[in-house]
Amino acid sequence: GHNGSPKQRQPSDAEKFVLEAPSAQNTHKFLKKYTSEAHLAGTPADERQAQWTLEKFNEFGIESKIDTYYPLLNYPIAHRLALISGPKHLRFEASLREDPVEEDETSHDPDIVPTFHGYSKNGTVTGPVVYANYGTVEDFQYLVDQGIELNGTIALVRYGGSFRGLKLRAAEKFGCIGGLIYSDPIDDGPLNKDQWPHISPPLPYPDGPWRSESSAQRGSVQYLSVLSGDPLTPGYAATKDAPRIDPEDSPGLTKIPSLPLSWKDALPLLKATQGRGIKGGAEWKGGLDEVDYYSGPTEGDVILTNHVDNKITPIWNVIGRINGTEEPDHAVIIGNHRDAWVYGAVDPSSGSAALLETVRVFGELLKTGWRPRRTIIFASWDAEEYGLVGSTEWVEDNRDWLNKEGTVYINMDTAVSGPHFAAKATPSLNNLLYQVTQNVNDPRTGGTVYKAWANFTNSDLPKVGQLGSGSDFVGFLDHVGIASLDVSFQGDYGVYHSNYDSFHWMEKFGDPTFEYHATMSRIVGSLLLRLSDDRVLPISPHDYAKELSNYVDSIEAYAGKTFDGLRIAVDKLDKRARRFEYRLARLQSRLDEYNGVNDDDVPTTLIERLNKANKRLTYFERGFIDPEGITSRPWFKHVVYAPSLWKGYDSQTFSAIAEAVDEKDDQLLKYSVERAIKQIYEASDKLKVD
Ligand code: GLU
Ligand code: CA
Ligand code: ZN
Ligand code: ZN
Repeated sequence: GHNGSPKQRQPSDAEKFVLEAPSAQNTHKFLKKYTSEAHLAGTPADERQAQWTLEKFNEFGIESKIDTYYPLLNYPIAHRLALISGPKHLRFEASLREDPVEEDETSHDPDIVPTFHGYSKNGTVTGPVVYANYGTVEDFQYLVDQGIELNGTIALVRYGGSFRGLKLRAAEKFGCIGGLIYSDPIDDGPLNKDQWPHISPPLPYPDGPWRSESSAQRGSVQYLSVLSGDPLTPGYAATKDAPRIDPEDSPGLTKIPSLPLSWKDALPLLKATQGRGIKGGAEWKGGLDEVDYYSGPTEGDVILTNHVDNKITPIWNVIGRINGTEEPDHAVIIGNHRDAWVYGAVDPSSGSAALLETVRVFGELLKTGWRPRRTIIFASWDAEEYGLVGSTEWVEDNRDWLNKEGTVYINMDTAVSGPHFAAKATPSLNNLLYQVTQNVNDPRTGGTVYKAWANFTNSDLPKVGQLGSGSDFVGFLDHVGIASLDVSFQGDYGVYHSNYDSFHWMEKFGDPTFEYHATMSRIVGSLLLRLSDDRVLPISPHDYAKELSNYVDSIEAYAGKTFDGLRIAVDKLDKRARRFEYRLARLQSRLDEYNGVNDDDVPTTLIERLNKANKRLTYFERGFIDPEGITSRPWFKHVVYAPSLWKGYDSQTFSAIAEAVDEKDDQLLKYSVERAIKQIYEASDKLKVD
């Protein structure tokens, strides 16, 4: 087991290499290239950047190819939002445009992608506007309970709390015909209550790192907790000739038109609801002082036009590969998406730059004669922004192979938006994260990243979060059951999915010296090295079992009842995992006598034991995959981890059970508990020593 503070471990020569080789200057150069043009998924600029990435991978000595898929995507043609009737003094026409900023040259680019929602419904609707706070099911229900008529209205909701597509899903459920999602300065602007104690006073861009009054948050409105990837090919790859379902039948697509808004464009609507309907409690109040956040409806009608072009269009994943020597049939995969809403300096290009630098470093390492035990895959995903499309289609296309050979997936999305390290992972990888970050220097504090991470989260053992959704790990973990992690450096990032997420923003606020980009490359390089080259895979089922017992506590508290069978299964897993790791430690110390010796010259019996152990460590996570999936959304197959149905980004552990509780469906509850128990025993069995 790994109780207490993690043991320091001396880096090998190859580890020293991946710690020393990354250069801030290179990442600066790579980021400049990726942010030199807007590169929305499926556009010619995106294809150019895929080609460039391919050339670089190959130039650095990593054999690479492009895997093309053909998902549905949509592109904005025209939009309009106006208050067209009612009192004359309230009428207005929204600008729906992010103002150019003088000192940021890319903000003047005529090719800037207009503000719109990915996978939004095409069409025009007209009706009164109702303000519905964050647009949760509870918010809409509150309005109904207060006697506010929602049928036929256009919902105005603010960003925050839940994924935007699920706000629309809730609006639809309550009879709304359109949705407007705006950035309120208190949630997604300079008054943000969740600011990192980093830069003060909090100022809007370009004076500070925060969102400015004309800035809107683009983004996908798919139902990300229900289906991942292309909405027309659920569960199978969107190859050129794949059969496609009717968009009307897709479980992932929203049914009402929508637009993202700046608070400058939302304010006139809140002025038009002022004094009408009800005033929610303090939780309904945002940061705009001119209004009291009344629900409305407005007296006049609003016209909302979201004219988009829906089309099936190619996207390009760039895939590089280093074949493993001793365990070529175990693959460690690292991925980052390349597509961006506009320039995407932080999201995702900081990750793209760090990934490219890592590819370069591994190419250099190969030139020294080093070869990994296991296979390494480098992936530059496309169309993540629309709904994790590139990674999901690739996972669906390679499901059988991944099921057999996928060992761990490392995700890097918005790699650098500030100086504070954060990680999410399946608990079996916590200890590896602790070990690796103890060997990496933190540019700001001069101590280790581990120390800075622990200090910042105010804990002896830094807190590792749960993987919910919102980035490309979803297909690997939730659909196939591959142990996964996601790493980032975070800070006061106030330009998410806007035109101002630019190179200039990064140079001025996010990472002026690019030291954090290089540091991220050191971290993922070390993770990749340990996972691909340690004799014994650095994966801990026992840490997983310990964490599972906390999840049982939470789901029991949520349900208000005990699940004895579930607890017994987790306890059994805990015992089995502890025994397994005890044997593993003994195997490890036997193997330590052969450090630096080729497998060929290690006693065969030892290598046989090693191979068995590594298979068990690889397949352990697979045990949690229920082939039936969650009843309401069968694409999601992991019994422990799934995105929360109505929040989306957050994970809801034992999600099927939680849903049955929400639905007050006793039969489904019993069934879901049984399925979870069954899979926990299956995970236990994966560790069985015969
Ligand atoms: N990362 C993107 C977002 O948060 C896409 C998530 C998704 O649609 O699954 O908007
Ligand atoms: Ca698909
Ligand atoms: Zn991203
Ligand atoms: Zn994004």
